[in-house]
Amino acid sequence: MRIRIKGGYFIPDLETPKEAHIELTNECNLNCTICYRRWFERSGFMDSNLFEKILSELKDMGVKSVWFDGFGEPTFHPKFEEFSSMASRDFELNLVTNGTIIGSKLRCISENFKNVFVSLEASDPLLYSRVRGFEFERLNDTVRSLVKEGVRVWISTVLLKDTYEALPSLVRWASELGIKGILTSNLIPTSEKMSEEKLYGRVEVDHVSDVMRESWILATSNNMKLLAPSFYYRSDRWCPFVEGDSLAITYEGDVSPCLFALHDYRAWIEGKEVQVRQISFGNLRERSLREIWFSEDYVIFRSFVKLSNYPSCHDCPAWEGCGISESNEYDCWGNSPSCSFCPYYRGVVRCPTGHAVRGLLS
Ligand code: SF4
Ligand code: SF4
Ligand code: SF4
Repeated sequence: MRIRIKGGYFIPDLETPKEAHIELTNECNLNCTICYRRWFERSGFMDSNLFEKILSELKDMGVKSVWFDGFGEPTFHPKFEEFSSMASRDFELNLVTNGTIIGSKLRCISENFKNVFVSLEASDPLLYSRVRGFEFERLNDTVRSLVKEGVRVWISTVLLKDTYEALPSLVRWASELGIKGILTSNLIPTSEKMSEEKLYGRVEVDHVSDVMRESWILATSNNMKLLAPSFYYRSDRWCPFVEGDSLAITYEGDVSPCLFALHDYRAWIEGKEVQVRQISFGNLRERSLREIWFSEDYVIFRSFVKLSNYPSCHDCPAWEGCGISESNEYDCWGNSPSCSFCPYYRGVVRCPTGHAVRGLLS
């Protein structure tokens, strides 16, 4: 089956997924200021039956790369070690972690994971603990141990008004540890107060480009890679998940096209409170991945994302007063769901994916 979108323009629906982001749990041992989890009504852990089914379906679809990430802390899952060794048999396995409860799981991580992204915003203990509520020295010891074990460690950092000026120090700290790359992203604020922490959008924040330039020069001169997001909404649209043939799966088995719309939560986009609704095309307890991936709704959705077939809320003069864009359920062109205000689509927000790893290695 092929889908005809616009006169003469064909989008093949024959592509298969290459990368899967699996949320083992949406629970976490921390309670960071930047976290979406405050909005969750339900939380839990993926069970073994579902996990085994997911692995078998991913293998059947030819997926090569699996990420343990999502909206919780993967190492917090009681079966993290068992699940890791199961998944690494058939897939290149990658991890996104806060790094705070690795402890005895160090051997498991070094044996099973290809890439490990540790999330932190600063190497200054006070700044770090202001965001993460954890002691930096303890995290520092863990990251050192991971590097010593030969794990390919990357740093994943959300840029905040409170911490971005310390980015050069973070680069120095990472370089001393032998880390080869830092992926930086902007923030999706999850409260009105956190809106004040964002560094991008319609109003430019002083010094950001100077700090980014200094950090980039420092990284490059230390043989490191620093990937930076865009600080304005680019007019071209490119989804790192859909373009990367990725999908994401919640701990309950819902299949979503991305991490942005993995769950329901509230976010503040350009000062306006919006309801992000989960985008899901089916649940793996009820249907096969093949059925979900090739369902007409999902194929059309991927085609629309690739064609940028959504209105552009970010530069729309009606944005502030527009009721339709208070949620991603609809947009003013009649799409449902919609990607019209997604910050990933415009390059201001990014997260660890295969595409990011290729950027860090290039
Ligand atoms: S470590 Fe990640 S999942 Fe856990 S509270 Fe912090 S931001 Fe949320
Ligand atoms: S939904 Fe349409 S009218 Fe509303 S802000 Fe977005 S582009 Fe503008
Ligand atoms: S554009 Fe945004 S909402 Fe749409 S699929 Fe990509 S990440 Fe998800």
